[in-house]
Amino acid sequence: MERALASADGDRSPGDALGRPLRDLRISVTDRCNFRCVYCMPKEVFGRDFQFLKREELLTFEEIARLARVFVACGVRKIRVTGGEPLVRRNVERLIEQLAGIDGLRDLTMTTNGSLLASKARTLREAGLHRVTVSLDSLEDDVFQAMNDVDFPVAQVLGGIEAAARAALTPVKVNMVVKRGGNEHSVLGMAGHFRGTGHVLRFIEYMDVGTTNGWRLEEVVPAAEIVRSIDALWPLEPVEPNYRGEVAGRYRYRDGAGEIGVIASVTQPFCRDCTRARLSADGRLYTCLFASRGHDLRSLLRGGARPVRLAGPRPQVSAPGGREGGRDRGAPHHHLDKADGPLLRAPHRRDASAAQGGDVADRGLARAHPTADPRGGFGSVSPTRSR
Ligand code: SAM
Ligand code: SF4
Repeated sequence: MERALASADGDRSPGDALGRPLRDLRISVTDRCNFRCVYCMPKEVFGRDFQFLKREELLTFEEIARLARVFVACGVRKIRVTGGEPLVRRNVERLIEQLAGIDGLRDLTMTTNGSLLASKARTLREAGLHRVTVSLDSLEDDVFQAMNDVDFPVAQVLGGIEAAARAALTPVKVNMVVKRGGNEHSVLGMAGHFRGTGHVLRFIEYMDVGTTNGWRLEEVVPAAEIVRSIDALWPLEPVEPNYRGEVAGRYRYRDGAGEIGVIASVTQPFCRDCTRARLSADGRLYTCLFASRGHDLRSLLRGGARPVRLAGPRPQVSAPGGREGGRDRGAPHHHLDKADGPLLRAPHRRDASAAQGGDVADRGLARAHPTADPRGGFGSVSPTRSR
């Protein structure tokens, strides 16, 4: 498979009808997590009886790396390892080592809740990870613990962030999901804490994850409101995006104390510039966060996919409201398996029944998306499978 792709026209990355290349791959390495964040894996849904994936259902590290090589050959330049919680997957650094060795990959990063980072930061760096994003929703223990719902203390996550900085997994980004009535009063404290540290704090609008987190629009704190409140205390100015498709709006402190980001996925969905695809822990490829069908790559890998040439006209892509008519039709997306010169030819193909995506922080639209499935979100069945 890799050989077939390597022999293809190197610069011919799959694009879509809006001219968006595929640059960014989110790889979920597990559907499990040691937190039960109320906005993501609420205990009522993800309790003792919840059926997580079985070991044999997960892609192996070799399978993930094999797919990653194919994607890099197709133009992907950035890989984010995520979960669930990626650091709960045993020996994940071995995967990092394999990914880090892929020629042409420019950015290898991980999103983690930070709970295990203090002990793993150095090993991850040595394995070749470039940087990390750590999630932290408040500096106040009572607020943070109410959000993570497993009584996990702030200090340990801060320890993880510092260990990451010491291990040069920089710039460290910190993700804070802001939920009205939950932690919105922690915004200024977080901004004040991370100002001047070199870490980039990013505020994420609370998003719908389907039926599992009881999402309500009233609980979304719009990014504009967050920016206004910080600007009133520490004046900000906007910064140009680093690259096309960057999901966070960037602002810098006028006094030079660094920058923040806002991910306004609800109030300002960013589908038009999306360059991402997502690989779930069980090997399904999702070309849109709100896709309800994934492409079953695991079956291809395990069933002996026949490699074919990645050549010919650019892949066919459905534009907004396009021909697919599926629940994911609202967002245009790459159809790797429908390309004129397809990436893989399947011996057989199954449809996914669950929407599974990638890093939630980079997901968009939620209910704000006109055609998004109201049951969609991070995963209409299991959001954890998507991260
Ligand atoms: N477990 C890791 C973590 O928490 O960083 C990685 C996976 S987590 C799903 C990825 C990111 O999605 C985290 O920053 C998390 O805060 C964010 N997230 C989860 N649920 C969300 C929601 N309902 N709305 C917005 N962001 C969410
Ligand atoms: Fe776990 Fe991350 Fe979801 Fe929180 S946001 S429950 S840490 S996967």
